[in-house]
Amino acid sequence: MDAVTKRYPDGTTAVDRLTLEIPDGSITVLVGPSGCGKTTTLRMINRMVEPTEGRVLLDGRDIREAPVNALRRSMGYVIQHAGLFPHRTVVDNIATVPRLNGADKRAARRRALELMERVGLDAAFAKRYPYQLSGGQQQRVGVARALAADPPVLLMDEPFSAVDPIVRKGLQDELLRIQADLGKTVVFVTHDIDEAIKLGDMVAVLREGGRLAQYAPPAQLLSA
Ligand code: ADP
Ligand code: ADP
Repeated sequence: MDAVTKRYPDGTTAVDRLTLEIPDGSITVLVGPSGCGKTTTLRMINRMVEPTEGRVLLDGRDIREAPVNALRRSMGYVIQHAGLFPHRTVVDNIATVPRLNGADKRAARRRALELMERVGLDAAFAKRYPYQLSGGQQQRVGVARALAADPPVLLMDEPFSAVDPIVRKGLQDELLRIQADLGKTVVFVTHDIDEAIKLGDMVAVLREGGRLAQYAPPAQLLSA
């Protein structure tokens, strides 16, 4: 992100001249209090939000040069309450993306079952509907669905914040394992500094007004 500013139409400056180089193949965490611009920053990476000023570059190229659909296909997106399709089973939630990409039904199902295993969900859950799962299980489905198209980039917005601490720890460990196995580039938003330190190879600390306060590996963060 090169000197990126986002001002919403009502005049709120959500992100203020943010320059950030997100390394390939590792986890970068955006952390800071509520309202400091984390979600806005994340959404400028997949063009759900357009910057007012500045540029977002992917592999050195302005993301506005490529079609937005291709950009979004290269980025899985996981949000706090999973955002699952309520009327589809777990396996169909995960298989939707491979199906849209042209996989036949059996191949998509096989892929979905593989992904369930990868995110630590028992195959017995395949035929359940989202409302029949615990919060933590729903988040696992959300991660599996985001991985289904095998995107190089995962954008995660407070994915584990709504689950209890023990389940959260399991999800964090799972994410670290998946990221190490698959080598994804992960951009992870949280307001929890402990989670940022645990997960981040790099941590960007934002403060009110959307300014970058620090950007460093966890061991080099200065206590504020
Ligand atoms: P965070 O994710 O850190 O909580 P956000 O990026 O959601 O922060 O919001 C940053 C600031 O921008 C906040 O002051 C928020 O109220 C404001 N904001 C977010 N979305 C909009 C919007 N669509 N219109 C106006 N202001 C917004
Ligand atoms: P959490 O502590 O994450 O909120 P829940 O109390 O929601 O957990 O769920 C506990 C267990 O009960 C989970 O294994 C979940 O899959 C199962 N479960 C929850 N709701 C239903 C349901 N409607 N039908 C079948 N199993 C359910």
